[in-house]
Amino acid sequence: MGNITFTMIKPTAMNKGFAGKILEKITDGGFRIQAMKMLRMSKADAEKFYEVHKERPFYGELTEFMSSGPIVAAVLEKENAVEDYRKLIGATNPKDADEGTIRKLYATDIQANAVHGSDSDENALIEASFFFSKKEQFDKDGNLI
Ligand code: ATP
Ligand code: MG
Repeated sequence: MGNITFTMIKPTAMNKGFAGKILEKITDGGFRIQAMKMLRMSKADAEKFYEVHKERPFYGELTEFMSSGPIVAAVLEKENAVEDYRKLIGATNPKDADEGTIRKLYATDIQANAVHGSDSDENALIEASFFFSKKEQFDKDGNLI
């Protein structure tokens, strides 16, 4: 436990051409890409993924946004991955994000905040398996996990 997190590069950041720069920050930050793909979620996919936020006022808008265009989904490996990745991405609202963080550099606003990052080890595993099968996840030697 504790060595993977799940991320998505959100539609606005994709649209603005920031995918490469964000992936560079991720690998420079010491994360290894264990799985990665580009896809567009359906509204139903986004509703399922964000089910925990169902009661929040922004649920409809958020799921609309997350299904509005392609994203990059990835599983990242590093010691203490969940916590370290949340440090690298910065606060949910880019206005509150520290200098040099991914959200400070590449977010548009609180909704279009460039990237998603898992909030616990348990959710990282659930989110990784939401997008990736066992045949799409690789260890550092290039073998299936
Ligand atoms: P994420 O889960 O995407 O890594 P987070 O954990 O920092 O972000 P959450 O509270 O889990 O933040 O919210 C999930 C997502 O919902 C946010 O990343 C953002 O896109 C959107 N969101 C959160 N708060 C608001 C808000 N007040 N208005 C609009 N969208 C919001
Ligand atoms: Mg969250």
